[in-house]
Amino acid sequence: MQLRSPFYELAGQFAVDLPGSRAVFSTRRGGCSRGPYESLNLGWLTDDDPNAVARNRAALAAMVGAPPMRFVRQVHGAEVVRVGTGRMAADAVTAASGASVPGASVPGASVPGASVPGAAGAAGPATAIVGEGNPPPRPRADGQATATRGIALAALTADCLPIAIAGDGAVAMVHAGWRGLAAGVVEAGVRAVRDLGASGELRAAIGPGAGPCCYEAGAEVHEAFADIPQAHRGAIVDLKLIARARLRDAGVGETHDIGICTICSDPALLFSHRRDGGVTGRQAGVAWLI
Ligand SMILES: [Zn+2]
Repeated sequence: MQLRSPFYELAGQFAVDLPGSRAVFSTRRGGCSRGPYESLNLGWLTDDDPNAVARNRAALAAMVGAPPMRFVRQVHGAEVVRVGTGRMAADAVTAASGASVPGASVPGASVPGASVPGAAGAAGPATAIVGEGNPPPRPRADGQATATRGIALAALTADCLPIAIAGDGAVAMVHAGWRGLAAGVVEAGVRAVRDLGASGELRAAIGPGAGPCCYEAGAEVHEAFADIPQAHRGAIVDLKLIARARLRDAGVGETHDIGICTICSDPALLFSHRRDGGVTGRQAGVAWLI
């Protein structure tokens, strides 16, 4: 299929090059899972065969030339963990719990922007690597950032937005549904790459996710983004427009949006939680320094 520039196809997946880094947004192509998870399902927390998921993760890395991938336990919050050797600290901002889809309603979930100073250990030992190994334990977070080569940061999605943020020397990958966007996960991702020493202009890339063609949401979601009137059209909430606005306001110079909606694109191309009534696989956004 024809992708809008600067995205390009790489072994059946979608790729984009950012300053000093590469991001890949996976598709359903090239895996071994069956049924509703056909074929490149990367999500453990589905009813798919875990061995198939493990094989799919290895297959994706091999197909696109990614280093070993690290996953976090996504909770629709705004925590972005820094991964790798050298100085590392968890960026404890807030962590919502519960919801697994952008439109899910979770009473009492996170307070947007709530800060938890000192909740997660600041500067630890000289070497600290989180998210190592599968299956869990993995840190609860919705984004990862690194300034270390040889690590691929992965975020699982099936309608939420996978967003890569990069400047020379550091890269982040975040998982952004409406709750994460409201809680500030995009801003936390930008802070993380700057804290890790990213220099020059920051650029970001938004992968496939629920688009403004399809993403209808309730009053709670509309109210969360009342500050961006152009993101609302009837019941529709334009999460990608909101993400672009948040990235720009956080200091990102240019954001590329792949412009593909998971809900209404070819069902054989991408998983969609909403389209498939919750029984579906997960694709991933993966980013690493090159
Ligand atoms: Zn759509």
